[in-house]
Amino acid sequence: SVRRVNDSYFGAYSSFGIHREMLSDKVRMEAYSQAILGNTSLFSGAVVMDVGCGTGILSLFAARAGASKVIGVEASGKMAAVATQIAKDNHLWFNDKPNGSDNQRGGIIEIFHGMVEELDGSPQLHPHSVDILLSEWMGYCLLYESMLSSVLYARDRWLKPGGAILPDTATIFAAGFGRGATSLQFWDNIYGFDMSSIGNELVEDAARNPIVDVISESDLVTDPVTLQTFDIISMKHEEVDFTASVELEPSSSLGANESAIKCYGVVLWFETGFTSRVCRETPAVLSTSPYTPKTHWAQTILTFQEPITMLPGKGSNINERLHTAESDVLPAEKIHLRVSIARAPEHRSVDISLEVA
Ligand code: SAH
Repeated sequence: SVRRVNDSYFGAYSSFGIHREMLSDKVRMEAYSQAILGNTSLFSGAVVMDVGCGTGILSLFAARAGASKVIGVEASGKMAAVATQIAKDNHLWFNDKPNGSDNQRGGIIEIFHGMVEELDGSPQLHPHSVDILLSEWMGYCLLYESMLSSVLYARDRWLKPGGAILPDTATIFAAGFGRGATSLQFWDNIYGFDMSSIGNELVEDAARNPIVDVISESDLVTDPVTLQTFDIISMKHEEVDFTASVELEPSSSLGANESAIKCYGVVLWFETGFTSRVCRETPAVLSTSPYTPKTHWAQTILTFQEPITMLPGKGSNINERLHTAESDVLPAEKIHLRVSIARAPEHRSVDISLEVA
């Protein structure tokens, strides 16, 4: 099945609500502040470019970590103006004079309004002159509305050979979920009345359009698998689109005694790494998994057209377990899954296709 969504992208980013949401996301904020403030030996004296600076929070962190110069680039005119004002208010604007206090090292941050792809530079900004590229480019399911290609563009044009990119890795994971993760249960019994037809309709719709919602660890019925890992430092532009073939196996925590379990679909999530390759002092991970505290990315839920019955407890006697399976369909030991994620021709949307063999 093909899923496609689109949005007025930069319009959405100039409203403050979304910036408030990002700045309130503790998991996100702590990963970036640990990666930047925990690696002062990396940032000290460095020239930094913040791709898509928004309010300028990452530029401010970089200045605090000792960067000698931070170039914030922002496509939204409103946010570029706001970031400029904030840098000034914090005495970090590049034309400010240092006033002696530790927190007020003037002359650090400069904000450019425009797409990073259209940045011509200033007399002081030359191609391959940046020591560190900093960006928070991740979208839902990592790649929906993601700015990854803009970061790769900035890498190729502005980063010094051997320069650092934060984060430097990104990984997409998948796992199967059970009935509890769907909205089915809710409609089963409303003050004693059966409203399950609504639940069924919602699940049918979710088989065409992915849902962004929070899934908890207890909703998972398979172990997680890695779909794809990106090395932001070395990957090629065309590697943003990928197809992965994986096998989902029943959760190792589900015992062999349990009867057949039903897998209603797959949930996708991502992690980005600030690995010891670049963050030598203090590596960090930003995880949006169902096993860790929730983030504003939540998880991405894709529902199968029909639930798939699986046998828990691999390695035990299959015939015995087949006996106890309730369904006429032969339960699956594993689910063979082919997932493709590709940028759609429209700006910033993605097509996700899910095939079950
Ligand atoms: N760095 C900020 C904002 C992240 S949101 C923070 O961490 O809070 C991403 C921002 O990047 C948005 O403000 C968006 O307008 C901007 N952006 C997206 N693509 C861009 C591009 N190609 N060039 C410049 N800015 C871009």
